[in-house]
Amino acid sequence: MSSLAVTDALLDGELVGLRCEEGRIAALGPEVEPAPGEEVIDAGGAPLVPPLVNGHTHAAMTLFRGSGGDLPLMPWLQERIWPTEAKLHADDVYWGTRLACAEMIRSGTTRFWDMYWHPGAVARAVEDAGIRAAVGAPLFDANGKVEELRQAALVSLEELPADAPGVTPTLTPHSIYTVSESSLRWVAGLAAEREVPVHIHLSETESEVQDCLATHGVRPAFYLDRLGLLGERTLLAHGVWLDHAELELIAERRATVVANPVANMKLAVGGFFPYPAARAARVAVGLGTDGAGSNDALDLLADLKLFALTQKHAAADPTAIAAADAWAIATGARAPLLEAGEPLTVGAPADFLLLRANAPELAIGELASNLVYAAGGATVDTTVVGGRVLMRGGEVEGLAEIVARAAERARGLGLSAAGA
Ligand SMILES: [Zn+2]
Repeated sequence: MSSLAVTDALLDGELVGLRCEEGRIAALGPEVEPAPGEEVIDAGGAPLVPPLVNGHTHAAMTLFRGSGGDLPLMPWLQERIWPTEAKLHADDVYWGTRLACAEMIRSGTTRFWDMYWHPGAVARAVEDAGIRAAVGAPLFDANGKVEELRQAALVSLEELPADAPGVTPTLTPHSIYTVSESSLRWVAGLAAEREVPVHIHLSETESEVQDCLATHGVRPAFYLDRLGLLGERTLLAHGVWLDHAELELIAERRATVVANPVANMKLAVGGFFPYPAARAARVAVGLGTDGAGSNDALDLLADLKLFALTQKHAAADPTAIAAADAWAIATGARAPLLEAGEPLTVGAPADFLLLRANAPELAIGELASNLVYAAGGATVDTTVVGGRVLMRGGEVEGLAEIVARAAERARGLGLSAAGA
């Protein structure tokens, strides 16, 4: 692999050079110069920042963008999403995921947590796009389809390459209201045996909490804990209705909660993840977009602003979250499960962003504040993963073909394509 060097990047107020070797950062600092024969990016004084981690999405749902977007959650799932998903082919998922990866690369996300059908196709798309993802098939056992769920879980793990550096296999039971108690226990056992993370929707709507109380006598986080599903490899998407006792329990078990404020607002669930209480309880927190069917963008920088603003607004307190904390959450730095590690250090994977050198929205003021409140995906100029340049000057390689192929697959599913 040819190596990459960056010159004149702005890091913590000083101009630095960076060299990548074998996919990792080999050198970083003011004295670092390119070695002979290296591919060189002259950053021209552009800020060098860690990339973003999208902690919850259904990447291939880019195919569903712009379809049925004004319905409540259950009719939207039951009438629009699930019937079409039943017809999905692996190639649909591949091109839908490639489109999602292109959007994420374009807006500075280099790692995402996915829950979608045909996980083998998702993994191929992730590898071909050059980014990183934790991947698993959604597991359901409605109408007593327990054997089907078990098969789907085992096939999902088998379909995923065990040794691909960019792909982490996961088990992804859809939710506590679509998977039975016995199947959730079985998933907990399999996850422990295979030592894989579990990624599940939890406490998204108030009715989910009321149903859980009525059926199981406890709130959702306590229910998961009783089933052995709440641990340090558990990722809970949403967490809108978690109460103090649940947050304390989640912190004690070292599970991670990923907030999805835009999807919550679009589906009008009536609340937001209680970040100030979660911070007080020391819960590991990440940020996600959710799928393009319920957001509809995959621009985590745009969602970061909404995350911070909704927290301030809900608490009626502008100090409810600081910009530096919001930025840390979006980069995965506040949740070890998201595997962001210590970015921008020697020995770390060579995953980083260069922002636009002359972006007016970054010209004045503190960088963290500007990143949260003024920047959007279009502020990102260059995206590098494992020392490989996936976007330079805002141009993602191969984008025209990816857009055309994804639109063709959407048309084939009877979903409206661009211009239709
Ligand atoms: Zn979701």
